[in-house]
Amino acid sequence: MNNEIIVRFPPSPTGEAHIGNIRTFLFNYLFARKNDGTIVMRFEDTDKERSDEKYEKSILETLDELGLDFDRGPFKQSERNEFYIDALNTLIEKGVAYEAEESNDGSGNKVIRIKNPNKKIKFNDLIRGDIEIDTTEFGDFVIARSKNDPLYHLTVVVDDIDMGISHIIRGADHITSTPRQIILIEALGGNVPKYIHLPLIIGDDGKKLGKRHGAVSWKEFKEVGYISEGVINYLALLGWNPGDDREFFTKEDLIEEFDISKINKSPAKFDYKKLDDINRKHILKLSSDQYRNYVFNYISEDLKEKFSKEPQKADKIIEQVIKERISKFGELKNMEKDGEFDFYFEKPNIDIQELNFKDTESSETKEFLKEIKEKIGEIDETEWNKESIKDKIWEWSGNIGRGKVLHPFRFLLSGLKKSPDPFTISEILGKDEVLDRIDEIILRI
Ligand code: GLU
Repeated sequence: MNNEIIVRFPPSPTGEAHIGNIRTFLFNYLFARKNDGTIVMRFEDTDKERSDEKYEKSILETLDELGLDFDRGPFKQSERNEFYIDALNTLIEKGVAYEAEESNDGSGNKVIRIKNPNKKIKFNDLIRGDIEIDTTEFGDFVIARSKNDPLYHLTVVVDDIDMGISHIIRGADHITSTPRQIILIEALGGNVPKYIHLPLIIGDDGKKLGKRHGAVSWKEFKEVGYISEGVINYLALLGWNPGDDREFFTKEDLIEEFDISKINKSPAKFDYKKLDDINRKHILKLSSDQYRNYVFNYISEDLKEKFSKEPQKADKIIEQVIKERISKFGELKNMEKDGEFDFYFEKPNIDIQELNFKDTESSETKEFLKEIKEKIGEIDETEWNKESIKDKIWEWSGNIGRGKVLHPFRFLLSGLKKSPDPFTISEILGKDEVLDRIDEIILRI
């Protein structure tokens, strides 16, 4: 008995790798890596019209960018026709496959059909238990269009046997393929592998996850700024859990923890909010350099230039503003669009009408601003940071009413209805600039 574990990843290159493919590959990957198994990569490009090499390339790029490697292949079914033809001939010689009319429409088109043993096929799914399907209704199904043109189920089975696949881990939508494929495996005298059918991935409306629910391919995920570590972690939790409530995993942790007996049967709901939360945890683990590089990949040329001219300011903005806020780097685009970085680099236009907190009088606000200026003016340049600035005015402002003092202070610095607190902004702007902005506003009141 050969106990070697060999799994396969056999996408049809008819589109970008989507979440379903990636989750399937990830589960194969984790299972194989955990058990010192072998991963075979093969492209099932028997559908000549829809298959395209550009998708093969992009699927391989996706795996590479996600850090998911394989051990053998990539093979291409279109280059393995001789094996399928051999198998077809064997089946015909054995008398279990035969040439027949495609239909009764009189067109005369011939196809090759397998003789269906018309029995109940029972197989064991490692998660779902025994599954029994009566194959009678499949009839003598077509396995090739001609002796040179084998169809999907035959190519899959020939490859699975030839490549020594021990475990087939694939989506639950393939359960109905399994009995057909077992009929073929038995006809060819192969060993029936072990099956694991993964739960479907559904959107929050309970329907199979698709484009209308949001990003579904790695390319789209990247565009909105998720990172591979976050996506891998989240996808591993789509239909699997470690048996407790831990949710943060690196790829290495996952390999260590992965256990197929903890895969669920019921459909897994794709939760973009949870993906955001997990991605956020992973981006916060990036080194400062890695984080900065990501930021630079998602901001405009214009902002890049500003950041490059004032690197210390940029570092503070990244550490104190961006890291506090975002879950994925694509959010930077919106922040930029909403002017959330402009006021760090140039004085904002202040609508003086908006300066007062609620029904505070302008004359009062003016006094508060003068007082702020005096208090924070005492801070030494070398001690200028958000804590020291806060220390100077926190207690005093509490006695007056924080909104009355802190709203105009924050607003004159940013000019925005929403922005970080005035202490953070002040630290980033530096002492001179803050005092200057306060002065200018005092003169206008
Ligand atoms: N080529 C099939 C697909 O992309 C693979 C199915 C299988 O794992 O057997 O859905």
